[in-house]
Amino acid sequence: MKLLKKAIIEKGRVLSEEVLKVDAFLNHQIDPTLMQEIGKEFSERYREAGITKILTIESSGIAPALMTGLELGVPVVFARKRKSLTLVDNLLTAEVHSFTKNETNEISVSKDYLKDDDVVLVIDDFLANGQAVRGLIDIVQQAGAHLSGVGIVIEKGFQAGGDFLRNQGVRVESLAIIESLHHNEVIFREEL
Ligand code: 5GP
Repeated sequence: MKLLKKAIIEKGRVLSEEVLKVDAFLNHQIDPTLMQEIGKEFSERYREAGITKILTIESSGIAPALMTGLELGVPVVFARKRKSLTLVDNLLTAEVHSFTKNETNEISVSKDYLKDDDVVLVIDDFLANGQAVRGLIDIVQQAGAHLSGVGIVIEKGFQAGGDFLRNQGVRVESLAIIESLHHNEVIFREEL
């Protein structure tokens, strides 16, 4: 997606060979126009999939997930990383190890908002080793819902998550795939 790649080049910052900082437009300050375009792009790719619900994880997945939900006209549910005082039982939970924070969180979703007749699109901001997405897929499976696919804003193609999911037969649509972050430079994977 051209507009996204432009934002990555112009506003992203390479923090290390493995980490890209995008808090100028995606996960701290948010660019609403770009999010709207991202929502349109995901919704075009999944328009025929009969999606009934979008599932993401707080907090960085919420903006792209919400814009996609708006385009597809379906509700957006975000998994919580911290226990809510009002959300104590009736939960679907999974363990997720955070790549950037190097900590393990239990994520949770209320059973009220994910049902066995749902067709689910999982959305997240980044795909690195795939822990976050795998946790979300685990929750979809626990609900007995159908996973239609995954939508990722930025996939780091040099980390294992994308290959792992695709080898499991999961449809993964990434709007930008980064091939390398060597020498402080973002190199994108050529689109086929
Ligand atoms: P994974 O679970 O696939 O290993 O990592 C994905 C999660 O880690 C995403 O939800 C994202 O918040 C965070 N993450 C992974 N890599 C990066 C990165 O290079 N930059 C930023 N800003 N977040 C990342």
